Amino acid sequence: MESNLDLSKFWCWQKDCPDYGKMNAGNIVLKERFGKDHRALLKCRTCGHCFSETHGTPFFGLHVPMDEVCRTLAQIPEKGSIRGAARSSGHDKSTICRWVDLAGKHCKEVTDYFLKELRLDRVKVDEIWSYIKKRRKTSLSTI
Ligand SMILES: [Zn+2]
Repeated sequence: MESNLDLSKFWCWQKDCPDYGKMNAGNIVLKERFGKDHRALLKCRTCGHCFSETHGTPFFGLHVPMDEVCRTLAQIPEKGSIRGAARSSGHDKSTICRWVDLAGKHCKEVTDYFLKELRLDRVKVDEIWSYIKKRRKTSLSTI
């Protein structure tokens, strides 16, 4: 089993784990690879929680799993606003605004994630982007 993953950039995202959110703490190990993409299944030795490498991927330097960021962004059109998505996800409105800006700079990666990992359809993804783009335009002029 080859390991070409840099385990130091992953962290345990089990919120009640003592090592939650800690990068490079030595608690993350490669458990196995699965599926046709040979995706890595990682394990936290501290709490025993397992997660796939995409779940634990840092979102472009943020200390939040990509999965959580993208799921929250996907709620924006559904909830009608960033405020609405903030309320239902429990994240700060200003945090989500930052994610929106970041997502706008990484369109391709985020779109891929929406389509492949969250299995959203194109129409829904376009909807999310139109919100993100609208938001970016207004945020750039007001901040
Ligand atoms: Zn853990």
